Formats: sequence, C-alpha cells, structure tokens
Amino acid sequence: MPIRQLSETMIDQIAAGEVVERPASVVKELVENALDAGARRIEIVTAGGGKSLIRVSDDGSGIPADELPLAIRRHCTSKLDGGLSDIRTLGFRGEALPSIGSVARLSLKSRLMGADGAHEIRVESGRIDGPRPAALGRGTVVEVRDLFHAVPARLKFLKSDRAESSAITEVVRRIAIAAPAVRFELAGADRSPTVFEPADDDNALGRIAAVVGADFAKNNLALDALREGVRLEGFAGLPTFNRGNALHQYFYVNGRPVRDKMLLSALRGAYADVMARDRHPVAVLFISLDPDLVDVNVHPAKADVRFRDPGLVRGLVVGAIREALAASGLRGSTERAA
Ligand code: ADP
Ligand code: MG
Repeated sequence: MPIRQLSETMIDQIAAGEVVERPASVVKELVENALDAGARRIEIVTAGGGKSLIRVSDDGSGIPADELPLAIRRHCTSKLDGGLSDIRTLGFRGEALPSIGSVARLSLKSRLMGADGAHEIRVESGRIDGPRPAALGRGTVVEVRDLFHAVPARLKFLKSDRAESSAITEVVRRIAIAAPAVRFELAGADRSPTVFEPADDDNALGRIAAVVGADFAKNNLALDALREGVRLEGFAGLPTFNRGNALHQYFYVNGRPVRDKMLLSALRGAYADVMARDRHPVAVLFISLDPDLVDVNVHPAKADVRFRDPGLVRGLVVGAIREALAASGLRGSTERAA
C-alpha cells in the first residue's frame, strides 16, 4: 500500500487513545477545562459508569459562538500564552475536545460571559453540526454520550460500570482538593451523589477534611517549607494514622494533580524509620515552583511531571516531613534530614 496521510478523524482517534483512556479521563479533561475557565461551580453527571453519559456543567467564562468550531479542532487552544516553559493552566495541548469528539457523541453548549445568548456545536465521529443558538443561562455544558462507540476495541477494555464510576469519583476527589473554593457536585443514576461545598476563604484543610476524611484533618502535621524557590505546603499524616496501601497520598504540582514515582518514594523515605514497611502514610502535598522548572508535557494525560532538579524536590519533601515529625517529638531530632 502506498504511503498516504491519515484522515483527520483517524488522527484524532489515534491521539484519543492516549488522552482518553477511560470515562474518568474524559471527566478529568472536562473538569480541568471548567477550572481553567474560572468556574466556581462544577456539576458532573454520569450514567453507565460514564460510558453512556458524562455531562459537565460550569459557570465559567464561556466560549464565544464563533470559537466553538475551534474548540473541537485539534491543536486549537486559548491557553499556552507564554509557551511550553510557562504553563499556568491545567490544559494547553488543545487535544481533549477533538479527541473526545472523535470517539463519542459530543455536544458543547456555551454562553460567553456578557453575551446575549448561548450557542451549541455537536460533533459525532468527526462530523460537525452547528454552531446554532441554544438555551443556557451562563457558562458551558459539555455532554459526552456513548463513549468509544466509534472504537469498539477500546470499549472492550473498560471495566464494569461500577469500577468506571468509582474511577470517576476518584478523579473528582483529587481535583477537588486542588480547588477548595470551587463547589463540586457529582451525581447520576449510577452513583450516590457527592458534593463538596466551597471551603471558606480557600481553606485547604476544610476541603481536605471533606475529601480525605475528618480524621485525617485532625491527625496531621502542617507543612510549609521553601528551598531554592520551590515551595512545599500541605499536610502529612501522623505516623500512627497509616494505611494498608498508598492510595491515600495526594500530590499536586502547581495546582495540578500528579502521579510521580519520585514523590511517592520521597514520602515513603520521609517515614522510613517511623512506620512499618507494609504501612503507608496519608498525605496531601502541594508543590509550587516556577513553571520553567517542571515539565508537564511528558504524556498527553498531563499527570506525569519531570522536575528539572528532582533531587531538590525530593530533599524538600523528605526534609520538611522529617523536621515536622521531629518538631512534634515523633522522631529523633538529631537524625539528619535529607
Ligand atoms: P486545552 O484545554 O488544552 O486548551 P481542550 O480541547 O480541552 O484543549 O479545549 C479547547 C479549548 O476550548 C480551550 O482552550 C478553551 O478555550 C475552550 N474550552 C473548553 N472547555 C471550556 C469550558 N468549560 N469553558 C470555557 N472554555 C472552554
Ligand atoms: Mg483542556
């Protein structure tokens, strides 16, 4: 067969494989978009574990009618103002909506703040319909139906509705910790509703109590440390407040939920001599640093990060937690923190 260029739809479907692995990845992308749009209230409704329906509504800035076709076109973004070395938004690749639109029935309804009315655009297997006038008071509503109907191979790899539902809940919990002032509501026929009310004056611990548990909020050491421009804030659980797995560890880099082997191992190292090998600390750690010092463009899902100086970040995490443990008499203070 001769070499030829893939169709736009095929290209989107291939890219979608990495951005949209499962319903929870769709929820993650749509909630990130709502947060990037400055939303204060985000409502997520799912059905069938997110396979039959995911609807995310927000009260954010909205999209101008004439930009709706761009929002669903590959590599089109209103973000990434300062280039890849200065990423200050959760999104920047301009890939989520076109990817979703290539593997599901997507409808995007939005009203630009201050505009007279709302508009809606739909896309199904690359076929675009609209934009046309629609009814919506404010913000944006993104509806995703029949996820992966266009790629049955992917559909087969999904877990039960129940498992996909709980993966969605987990995504919302992780993001909610990073945005305590935002109200989150997660509902649907396939779940019991979860509501996180906005915490007073950005009170991170209030939201953490709601997400991680009131008992963690009472059994932690507050962290606030700075090393060479890298800041660590957050809460490290008391050694006695441990768990049988590492699922209760939440890491954020510049407000973005991340998974990172180095951070996991730094946390483990910090507790190494106050906790049994088979037990795991509970912690919520927020790392902030110049966007130039961390690369979030490692994988399309944007959950992996690469620090320019991982040793510095590791030392900061281990050092701050060991110091906090020592200060509260939970660990010998003569031991070197490194
Ligand atoms: P990215 O977030 O990387 O820019 P997306 O495909 O997720 O790419 O979204 C494309 C564009 O659509 C965004 O840059 C933004 O301008 C617009 N957009 C998407 N969702 C929303 C939303 N909920 N509110 C306002 N604008 C949105
Ligand atoms: Mg996005």
